[in-house]
Amino acid sequence: MSGLAKLGKALLLGALAALLCAANAIAQAKPLAGADVPKIYERLLRQIDQIPIYDNHSHATFPDDSDMDAMAAPPGESSVLRLSDTNPEFVAAAKSLFGYPYDDFKPEHAKWLIDKKKAAEAAGGTAYWDGILDKLKIETCLANRVALAPYLDPKRFHWVFFVDSFLFPFDNHDQIAKNGDMAVYVPLQEKVLHRYMKQESVNTMPADLTGYEAFVRQTVADNQKKGGVAMKFEAAYFRTLYFRDPPREKAEAIYAKYHAGGVPSEEDYRTLQDYVFRVLVDEAGKLNLPMHFHSAVGIGDYFSLRNGNPLNLENVVRDPRYSNVKFVLIHGGYPYTLDMIWMTAAKNVYTDSSLMGYYIYPSELKNILKQWISLFPDKIMFGSDAFPFNDAVGAEETFWLASRSARTAIAAALAELVSEGAFNEEKALELAHMYLHDNAAKLYGAKP
Ligand SMILES: [Zn+2]
Repeated sequence: MSGLAKLGKALLLGALAALLCAANAIAQAKPLAGADVPKIYERLLRQIDQIPIYDNHSHATFPDDSDMDAMAAPPGESSVLRLSDTNPEFVAAAKSLFGYPYDDFKPEHAKWLIDKKKAAEAAGGTAYWDGILDKLKIETCLANRVALAPYLDPKRFHWVFFVDSFLFPFDNHDQIAKNGDMAVYVPLQEKVLHRYMKQESVNTMPADLTGYEAFVRQTVADNQKKGGVAMKFEAAYFRTLYFRDPPREKAEAIYAKYHAGGVPSEEDYRTLQDYVFRVLVDEAGKLNLPMHFHSAVGIGDYFSLRNGNPLNLENVVRDPRYSNVKFVLIHGGYPYTLDMIWMTAAKNVYTDSSLMGYYIYPSELKNILKQWISLFPDKIMFGSDAFPFNDAVGAEETFWLASRSARTAIAAALAELVSEGAFNEEKALELAHMYLHDNAAKLYGAKP
């Protein structure tokens, strides 16, 4: 090789190396977002605002309908700052949805809003709640309720029914006596259990565990036939989410001992509950019915963060016997949101951002969604947890607050990632569609 050829080759290699460096600079994401974030955010938000939402969890309801939940708020609970009556965002919600003419919820002003909602309830029909969804571009919405309501359009609102009541078939005096929260929760569970017995024409508690199991399985199957798309556990409010795997004989003996009376010991009751829980998981697999779990902070004075930690469910969701069961751990496990996204590494585990959408502000929701969407973007869903807080601030306003928070937070999270060089805006919009709509539509089987 001549000197000139050597020089030419060296120059060529140098140019190649420089090119590779430049390519690397484009491909390598930066740890800091640039000054272009606000512009990218505005562009993304304009399009994200148009995405129809699939809401994984709500309590769509008028405030005087006791079927909105299988439990009720115990007295004296502490509330987070954003949910205080004086949060001006609720006024913004009422203005946006109804043209509310006042700037506060003073009783004489709130009456305007309460009257409007009462009139809508009295008018009957399903147009009112369809209209609320339309205004917020919510296409489909799961309604977690004791029963579906005649004012909810079954084409838009799909029923998620409760199954905790099956865990309380015995004399519950000791459960009720545990604390003020359980004194409110457990009698309501007994009520739901009796409602299910009436539904199934079961007049007295079945004589043995075989009979009880049959009743449990039949009720779940019938609820699915009535339109139920998932079953829901609020168990974290009542006990640990760590469910053991007791042998059937043990549960059978406990059932035989207490079905006719007597207050079960804590250990006996828990063992029976662990067994009945596994019957429900098994049935969920057979019916292809996703299981929803409250897995996050909870209301009340005695809620146990440790018992409600979603990691308690790891032995169940990672059990190969249940690989056909879809587990939907709702409320993102908040505050254990990083543990939660790693729970969704299991192929049959999903989570949603419900409750967080109004407990925390969008700036913080953005951080959580940024982490989630960077890890398992196909396993996360939007959920509103829309719920009436009083006669004025209803599920309508919380639908608004949660959906506005989620749209802005996901736009901000994606804008930062685009600016950092993680991916382009086209990919960002694809990820936004997955979170706000597509993942849920796929999970529950989108209707044509
Ligand atoms: Zn809820």
